[in-house]
Amino acid sequence: MQNILNDIAETIQAQKQRGVVADYIPELAAIDPKQFGIAVALPTGEIYSAGCAQQLFSIQSISKVFSLTLALGKIGDAIWQNVGREPSGDPFNSIVQLEKEHGKPRNPFINAGAIAVVDAIMMGHEPKEILAEILQFVRYIANDSSIAIDEKVALSELATAHRNTSLAHFMASFGRIEHAIEKVLGVYYHQCSISMSCEQLAKAGLFLVSEGVNQSTGRRVVSAHRARRINSLMMMCGHYDGSGEFAYRVGLPGKSGVGGGILAIAPNNASIAVWSPGLDKLGNSMLGTIALEMLVQRTGWSVF
Ligand code: GLN
Repeated sequence: MQNILNDIAETIQAQKQRGVVADYIPELAAIDPKQFGIAVALPTGEIYSAGCAQQLFSIQSISKVFSLTLALGKIGDAIWQNVGREPSGDPFNSIVQLEKEHGKPRNPFINAGAIAVVDAIMMGHEPKEILAEILQFVRYIANDSSIAIDEKVALSELATAHRNTSLAHFMASFGRIEHAIEKVLGVYYHQCSISMSCEQLAKAGLFLVSEGVNQSTGRRVVSAHRARRINSLMMMCGHYDGSGEFAYRVGLPGKSGVGGGILAIAPNNASIAVWSPGLDKLGNSMLGTIALEMLVQRTGWSVF
């Protein structure tokens, strides 16, 4: 495994075309696109990594997997009243479907869906309380209490928030958002601004590898049934309108973020995190996807 990861890191480092960093969030626009990290966490607790796998980066939309998991635990299937389970086929911050579909976002991984998930788990709580719960949950599943939020990234996103504010107001006009929009978005931006390394992220995904149990800590996070369903949503919706392409090329449930990270789950085998800040046109890590493609070719870990 170490040899495979070293080969991948070497190939990726040599690439000239590295994609474009997310520039609509000023803090992310300043990240050096030459960085690359990869980490593979096995259910036994072993971790293999290459490149800058301990460097912290903004997990952004990968956090949507964790907030959905928390939401399912808190309110169960009631979450599906205001969020769908279908691929969107549209960009992550698109508003078009919301109008035709009565303000109900297609899935929990596009921005509108993730904002609706935050609203659903607030349940009258103050933003600080719910944010603390999300952070606590991520620390718990990763078994790492050092994981923190990068306040600068959250404020940077807040300063350029027109699109997400529009999505939230649009949903609210259909009566689908219960709490004050500034509060919901405040939680959402902070959740997206959690900083993690590839190693931490790979560890956080372990519960999805072994039917809901993080085998390395022995902690059951969700039921086997729920873990399968979260994986299926990641497969169908985790890369927005690039989900089909990701399934075709990599063949694993995966969730990307505009920070350039991707969390991919090889059920029964491993949790994998990659990070390369340059994005493709759909907002998914360009070289991160190539790295995963190489890993799956070498290990045969595709679910297909
Ligand atoms: N925080 C980002 C946003 O709301 C998350 C988007 C992403 O990672 N795709 O735009």
